[in-house]
Amino acid sequence: VPAAVASAAAAAIQQGAAALQGIDYTKIELRTEPLAPNVYALTGSPGVDPGHPEAAGGRIMLLTGPDGVFMVDAQYAPLADNVSTAIAQIARAPVRFLVNTHFHPDHTGGNLAFAHRGALILAREEERKALPQPLPPAITNLVDPSVLKAYQTASGDWSDPARLPVFTYGAGAQQMIRLNRETIHLIPVPTSHTDGDTLVWLENADVMAVGDFYRNYGYPFVDPSHGGSTSGILAAVDLVSSLAGPNTRLVPGHGGIVTAADLPAYRDLVATVQGRVKDLFAEGRSLQEVLDARPTASYDALVPGGTTAIPGIGSSASRFVATIYAELKAAST
Ligand SMILES: [Zn+2]
Repeated sequence: VPAAVASAAAAAIQQGAAALQGIDYTKIELRTEPLAPNVYALTGSPGVDPGHPEAAGGRIMLLTGPDGVFMVDAQYAPLADNVSTAIAQIARAPVRFLVNTHFHPDHTGGNLAFAHRGALILAREEERKALPQPLPPAITNLVDPSVLKAYQTASGDWSDPARLPVFTYGAGAQQMIRLNRETIHLIPVPTSHTDGDTLVWLENADVMAVGDFYRNYGYPFVDPSHGGSTSGILAAVDLVSSLAGPNTRLVPGHGGIVTAADLPAYRDLVATVQGRVKDLFAEGRSLQEVLDARPTASYDALVPGGTTAIPGIGSSASRFVATIYAELKAAST
């Protein structure tokens, strides 16, 4: 592992895991919400997860029926039994398919447990590459051991390859699954939150799990250590706008469930803040000067949790601005 790659990977783990250290998993409860006949969302409780104070972990979506359960995302690893209990209350059949919207541990931590219980995991090939497999010492030596432990606890046992997707597909390869009289579309998302996001559309129920490129709690999160891109968020939003009808329910990984009518305001926020940072960067301002200029100020009152402190990253506003700045800097060198 080249030193620069190892230090970038270590920094990403360090940053991502700082908020995970504060989670008491025994305090997390799951709320089951019906979205359509045989379609449900499972959302974690508020006030337990410092990285996601509005609702712990990543939201799960379920399609139930006689053919077996189809599951979107798998929460943190220590919640697998809670998730199984919640599923057993709405479905008799076992989980047959599990698709991950992207590799982050709040969406894939339960992979191993559900694979061991018979689920087939599907995801982007990019996700399979991004899911931490046993890390080389060149990386683990750079990460604080307590932080590494928090990251591994959230993600599940890295040494067991059963947690990795079995069926994978690339950026251009949309997939379809017929199950429980539903037509399920697995739609690769343009590089945005990460380079391996999937959008899951249940055509008949008209519900779409969109993952994390859209969020309405905190500012957008682009994961630059895994190919994320701010401009890609605009492309991903445009993709959803083109697919969704007026009644389509959009189920984000975090925050409230919305419709396409909520997308233009989000797109405007991303494009406007990006434009402001671009102007400041063009004036030769340093990152600190750009942060001090508060390019998100006019949106802060509209974005719940946007300026809330998050361990390891400052706030989602400062993370968003710093990411845009880093993208501009990378493009200029
Ligand atoms: Zn997430």
